[in-house]
Amino acid sequence: MREEIKKRKKIALLGSTGSIGTQVLEVVRQNTDKFEICVLTAHSNDQLLIKQAIEFQPNTVVIVDENKYDFLSNELWNHDIKTYAGEESLSQVVQMEEIDLVVTALVGYAGLKPTIAAIEAKKAIALANKETLVVAGELITKLAEQHQVPIYPVDSEHSAIFQCMAGEFHNKIEKIYLTASGGPFRGWSAEKLAGVTKAQALKHPNWEMGAKITIDSATLMNKGLEVIEAKWLFALNSSQIDVIVHPQSIIHSIVQFEDGSMKAQMGLPDMKLPIQYAMSYPDRIYSEFPRFNFLDYPTLSFEKADAKTFKNLSLAYQALDLGGTAACALNAANEITNAAFLNEQISFLQIAEINEKTMRQTDFIAKPTINDYVDCNLEARAIATSLLK
Ligand code: NAD
Ligand code: MG
Repeated sequence: MREEIKKRKKIALLGSTGSIGTQVLEVVRQNTDKFEICVLTAHSNDQLLIKQAIEFQPNTVVIVDENKYDFLSNELWNHDIKTYAGEESLSQVVQMEEIDLVVTALVGYAGLKPTIAAIEAKKAIALANKETLVVAGELITKLAEQHQVPIYPVDSEHSAIFQCMAGEFHNKIEKIYLTASGGPFRGWSAEKLAGVTKAQALKHPNWEMGAKITIDSATLMNKGLEVIEAKWLFALNSSQIDVIVHPQSIIHSIVQFEDGSMKAQMGLPDMKLPIQYAMSYPDRIYSEFPRFNFLDYPTLSFEKADAKTFKNLSLAYQALDLGGTAACALNAANEITNAAFLNEQISFLQIAEINEKTMRQTDFIAKPTINDYVDCNLEARAIATSLLK
């Protein structure tokens, strides 16, 4: 019994109240002999965070929104749980000695600093927060190498590539194909997209996710961010990364090796599978997830992605080729425009228009330091905000 408790992986979960965060907790709930929650954090959903803390009894809980701190600490006073507030606390708690794995399930640029802090403390990372690699992939991957920290992908496409690479890490990748569902507006013209509403954009055909990534999926920004994420995770250049639309979301991505052979990973679209693989790697653990039935899917189809109409995808390739702070600027612009579309301040097509203008207008630094990324993020946000009017 003692041995078993010792072997449980101790997890810090950043963004526990979100779509990924709650699914991580489902995996933990099903595997209490393998995982133990050590830290839970959320931005402002105090009610859910309290409920989760009472169920999982972590050592520490952080709420980023300081206005919610008093309520949180009052509710948890008679549990043996430390409570903190504020953004800075995230970077401190991930460094706790007992943590084995930090799962970054928070959304946006906010993931950058805590991920750096976790890597510096030599914690393995299960990375859902793709924006961190988009903003500062070069810096993060160098730091991870320097501290010998593994980064396990949670994103389903990158998990697929990673699963295809098992036993093949010594072999060169010729090319990868990231699959894309195409989102709710697959095949639509620019004229038709002009009138798209927030409610239409929030209806993803195959996945239920947080609001930001759902909008990013509708604009194909999500696939663009994933192209950049793939570059850093698998050390590829842009000509080695292709996007192929696959509306059924059964094949999660494909690796092509130098001999021309291709490996694909498939399964029903359920984020718990890649989440669980990132948490249990190199082992696979039994799950009750529904199994795929070929006869339910007699046709798996493939189409070219329309990067002309869905401009965000081509902007991501441009940012990737420019390198430096270009992707940081694009990401910052997109966080502003995505939120503005959700607030019904701008139209669907303005998202990519403002992203493009912001990327062009933001100062470009070819060899950025961490402070350059911080400054670039602030500058691009200010430019994008001024372009909303
Ligand atoms: P979500 O909006 O459902 O949840 C976000 C979580 O982060 C919440 O717990 C929230 O409290 C926290 N958070 C939000 N802003 C924060 C801030 N400024 N500081 C600290 N914490 C903050 O988002 P999600 O859909 O779970 O996505 C999380 C990440 O995972 C994103 O980077 C997304 O791209 C990636 N991802 C999500 C899915 C999915 O199926 N949802 C799939 C692949 C990748
Ligand atoms: Mg994905």
